[in-house]
Amino acid sequence: MNSKQLFEQARQYIPGGVNSPVRAFASVGTDPVFIDSAFGSKIKDAEGKEYIDYVGSWGPMILGHGYPDVVDALLRQMVRGISYGAPTELEVELARMVCERVPSVEMVRMVNSGTEATMSAIRLARGYTRRDKIVKFEGCYHGHSDGLLVKAGSGALTFGVPTSPGVPADYAKHTLTATFNDLASVEELFKAHPEDIACVILEPVPGNMGVIHPDKAFMSGLRQLTEKYGSLLIFDEVMSGFRLSPSGYQGLNPDVQPDLSTYGKVIGGGLPVGAYGGKKAIMEMISPAGPVYQAGTLSGNPLAMVAGIQTLKATAREGFYTELDARSAQLSQAMSAILKEVGIPHVLNQLGSMFTIFFTEQASVNNFADAVTSDTKRFGAFFRAMLENGVYLPASQFEACFMGGAHSDKDIDATLEACRKAAKAL
Ligand code: PMP
Repeated sequence: MNSKQLFEQARQYIPGGVNSPVRAFASVGTDPVFIDSAFGSKIKDAEGKEYIDYVGSWGPMILGHGYPDVVDALLRQMVRGISYGAPTELEVELARMVCERVPSVEMVRMVNSGTEATMSAIRLARGYTRRDKIVKFEGCYHGHSDGLLVKAGSGALTFGVPTSPGVPADYAKHTLTATFNDLASVEELFKAHPEDIACVILEPVPGNMGVIHPDKAFMSGLRQLTEKYGSLLIFDEVMSGFRLSPSGYQGLNPDVQPDLSTYGKVIGGGLPVGAYGGKKAIMEMISPAGPVYQAGTLSGNPLAMVAGIQTLKATAREGFYTELDARSAQLSQAMSAILKEVGIPHVLNQLGSMFTIFFTEQASVNNFADAVTSDTKRFGAFFRAMLENGVYLPASQFEACFMGGAHSDKDIDATLEACRKAAKAL
């Protein structure tokens, strides 16, 4: 069956035909490509057409698809048992690797997804501080748990408004939203609720409204404010963790240390893994060491652990991140130059191996309000032309493109050739 036939069938049995909304390609005006297989930097659809992949499963495949050490470790583990529901040496090894790499993480608990990681970290922050309210930023995504699916509109900054039906207003009201890169918007919330805010959670480098550069003064301001008001600072590094440096964003800005951090994506090398960790005194509140309950049948699953261990080992190679970041800068700047040549207004935001080209007339994109000035129709046309020419980009203006260790010079050249054609077609 080809992608079109598969999508028709899928819609009969799966809501919207997909198991996660953005995969439906709804915002880019075309039907989704169904994937048959992937290897290295390439992904192949049901018709056998190959694309250069800049989605990388939305971040985990930092080494490329089918990385030999990961595959070998998975095969070797598979015959030793797929799941035990009991502790293993593998869990200890991955936990130790995380703690050794990230100075702010002294203890870590494995879960199965980024959603679980952030949801559990917030429960822990509430349990630890004995407070109910949390602060998040407009445009930051932390998974689909109830309290985090809140994005206040411009008139409703004080009390959360559920964006999704099914989130009780009584619950969402505990989620306060602020503006990214705007410390005053956070301070206002603290002044209004000085003793009620359990934590501030943010993507230190947002990727879920497209890539945004965090202002350093904003980040240190958050640390000072949370300390002043007795609130915890949580870095959601599900996307940036082990991607922007061996210790994620925290490696780029060691001056700002969060109390808790959340992980996903790269830490599982493509298998379903999430993790949350931080200071020992806080982490020891988690069951069975402490009273804050959190559990998981498949948590610390041995297959997921070996994929994570091998992925972190491979990224530890000397020069891995420097080379990856340089390629990402090279590609994204060359794409930006091509668009400039044909007079297409845009802003390129690139940090390490994450980048977004916003099709906006703004001079810069620093928060959600800036990001939504983008011409999403134009992005859709660009996306479709790139796809047609063999380049698989994230199917939304408000996502990050991911570069991986498997992308070659040849891939970069082919991507730029596709970009030239796409730019002309716009
Ligand atoms: N936090 C961030 C920063 C993310 O990017 C994502 C997923 N894109 C999540 C949390 C949720 O992770 P998951 O989809 O694994 O539940």
